[in-house]
Amino acid sequence: MGFDTSGLLPLSDALQGMLEQLACCCDSEQLPLPEALGRVLASDIASPLAVPPFDNSAMDGYAVRLSDLTAGTPLIMAGKAFAGQPYQGEWPAGHCVRIMTGAPVPAGTDAVVMQEETQADGDRITFLAQPEPGQNIRRAGSDIGKGACVLPAGTRLTPREMPLLASLGVATVPVRRPLKVAIFSTGDELKPVGTPLAHGDIYDSNRYGVRAMLARMGCDCLDLGIIPDDPAQLRAAFIRADEEADVLITTGGVSVGEADFTKQLLDELGEIGFWKLAIKPGKPFAFGRLPRAWFFGLPGNPVSAMVTFDQLVQPALAKLAGQRFERPLQLQAIAAEPLKKSPGRLDFQRGIMSQGPNGLEVRSTGSQDSAVFSSLSRANCYIVLERERGRVAAGETVTVEPFGGLLL
Ligand code: AMP
Ligand code: MG
Repeated sequence: MGFDTSGLLPLSDALQGMLEQLACCCDSEQLPLPEALGRVLASDIASPLAVPPFDNSAMDGYAVRLSDLTAGTPLIMAGKAFAGQPYQGEWPAGHCVRIMTGAPVPAGTDAVVMQEETQADGDRITFLAQPEPGQNIRRAGSDIGKGACVLPAGTRLTPREMPLLASLGVATVPVRRPLKVAIFSTGDELKPVGTPLAHGDIYDSNRYGVRAMLARMGCDCLDLGIIPDDPAQLRAAFIRADEEADVLITTGGVSVGEADFTKQLLDELGEIGFWKLAIKPGKPFAFGRLPRAWFFGLPGNPVSAMVTFDQLVQPALAKLAGQRFERPLQLQAIAAEPLKKSPGRLDFQRGIMSQGPNGLEVRSTGSQDSAVFSSLSRANCYIVLERERGRVAAGETVTVEPFGGLLL
């Protein structure tokens, strides 16, 4: 993996290096459609039928044969076709069929004329305009052809996919079991919410963020709580996580501080790389393999933990879970104010984007210190500032990455 001269690893190299090693590790199972919500498709879904299954009317109106229509001469209504109740019987020349939206068009229909373009006098229907062939007819298979791939493997099933699968009559779906992710926070200073703080303590916030992101991704979470900076307890937690989960994510203890036993322990237990990433915030990051599980060690600073989760862990988990991963959307925006930046690292600043008079514009949330967690909740995007870029003047164009999915 190409370390550059400054010894900092570019984000894209880190991501690529990780993804190359990872493969889906979740078996598949067949689930009834309603239970498959939130799961990832294990194989392509080919449509077992054409949608719509038959030619049908797109309007309430009249089914006609063009050969019956001579300008100004009314047609006689031969009968009616409703959705679920097709027209039965003969269709004599000089007649039309009253038809409702979704009803199968009678054999021989050339067009459906909407009711508003007709005049009815009892059974005698006058057509005000000459219809185009095929007008207002939804053709069989025009939405989905029989056998067409409607959803590729790797699609996560959301409320948008459920009615689509139901429209095809799909009763059970092949899906992957959820990825099982163990998490814990490390640090003697951390206390869980709901307990009092002694001097020097802080509340553990990272675990709640990571848990929430895992929930959004559809992962099963094994929360092992807070582990103090104690080698024996850390060791036991690593071993338990490795035995019970596919992945372990920890926060804290991956920098070079005194109390960072993680590195020492992981050298003993598995093969873990400790990286200094060329991004800000979020420099220290650990990745590697325990005997069974994959390991991601996020920095302790809450904002750094979120950024590294978002940029590195999320795509990695998607791959392990068998889920297709789309790169986050990036847009161009005008900096509405100057932005502090020094060259050397790729910055993920917290920004507030809004619609300005000249298009999309973005402001900073203020302090970009990685310990200032409140900046993340005020933000609605990352301002992604290229590695070699320096200070940004107001009016310059910058790249923004809206918080989609995970950080919204
Ligand atoms: P570390 O990476 O363990 O050196 O921690 C870096 C900074 O992040 C320190 O100020 C920690 O107190 C803080 N920190 C570590 N873990 C957490 C956590 N789970 N919640 C909130 N802050 C944390
Ligand atoms: Mg620590």
